[in-house]
Order: sequence, then structure tokens, then C-alpha cells
Amino acid sequence: MVQLDFKAQRIVDAKQMNIQFDMLCKLFGQPKEDIYIYICRSQYELKKRLHIVNVLLPDWVVGANHNGKIAILNKKQLDARGFHINTLCAHEMVHVFVNQFVANCPLWLNEGLAQNLVPEPKNTANAREQIISQKLLNPYKLSYDSGLYYVSKIIVGKLFKIYGKTQIVTLLKKCTDFEDNNIFGYTAIEALL
Ligand SMILES: [Zn+2]
Repeated sequence: MVQLDFKAQRIVDAKQMNIQFDMLCKLFGQPKEDIYIYICRSQYELKKRLHIVNVLLPDWVVGANHNGKIAILNKKQLDARGFHINTLCAHEMVHVFVNQFVANCPLWLNEGLAQNLVPEPKNTANAREQIISQKLLNPYKLSYDSGLYYVSKIIVGKLFKIYGKTQIVTLLKKCTDFEDNNIFGYTAIEALL
């Protein structure tokens, strides 16, 4: 189940969160504990809430998760940066499942899954996407600053089309060495670019 803190109860769509939660349970399995969503006034409060105060987060981070807990900035700050609150919570929820059920999932794959497993509201395309050139680079070589989100969304979209969501998640849960894997590995992904 998804639990919302006092502030989240007023602005997060609990019904939509539980639909997303049930969909992810069917795909990945039942998580060990309930997922908690917290609304925070600042990035510092967000880090305190998740017990990751010593982690250095880039300025653009508006939501994060740790040990099954999700913390996001308040609606005013999300609106100012063009983020949709329910989409962001659902996105972080995918990470919670991936982090719990997939060992050592590469960052790009985790982000690609989150972007492909969350229905995006119209007209809220991520602003970062627009500044990235069209040339696709292998996501294993990319960081958040060099277009990782953009490429990972496309690549995971292709993997879902070829193998189907269910099969991909089954394979992810079994995978032990991603970079060498014949579906998720560096060479296999190179062939999809
Ligand atoms: Zn993410």
C-alpha cells in the first residue's frame, strides 16, 4: 500500500498512486513494506527525511527515494520547475520497486523503466529532452548531464516493444551482470541505437 504524509494527502492523488502501486506489484512482486510519500519544503528536508543528508544531490533533483520512502518537493516548487506531482511520485515509485527487486540495476535502465512505466500527462514533456541532440549514444556512457534520461526512455521503450514489459521485468530480476548481458548489456544496447 501507499501511505501519504499529512501534506501529501492534500495534494497527491491517492487513488492514482494505489493504481500505480498495484500495477508495479503485478510486474515486480509485493514489496516488503508500505511505500511512504513525503512532501518537503527544501532539498535539505528531503535528504533528512530519507536519511541521506550526506549524499550530494544536484540542484535539479526534485524528488528522491531511499529504503522504500519517497520524498518530493512541495507543489509550488514542482510547478515552478514544470513537474507534475503525481507523475513524479509515480516515477519515484518505480525506482522503489526496481531498487528492491533488481540487484545493481544500471542508472540508465532504472530511469528508462521509470519513464516507461509511468503514464505521462500531455504537454509536460521533460524540458531536459528538448536540449539534447538527436544523436543517440550508448546509455552506459551517459550521465544525467549528458542526456541519460532522453536515451534511456527511448531504449527501454524499444526493449518493451521487442520483449514485452512482463518478460523484461522477469529478466531484470534474474540478471546479475548487466553490462555483459545479452539483452541489457553494452553490446546488445549498441545494436538498438
Ligand atoms: Zn528517476
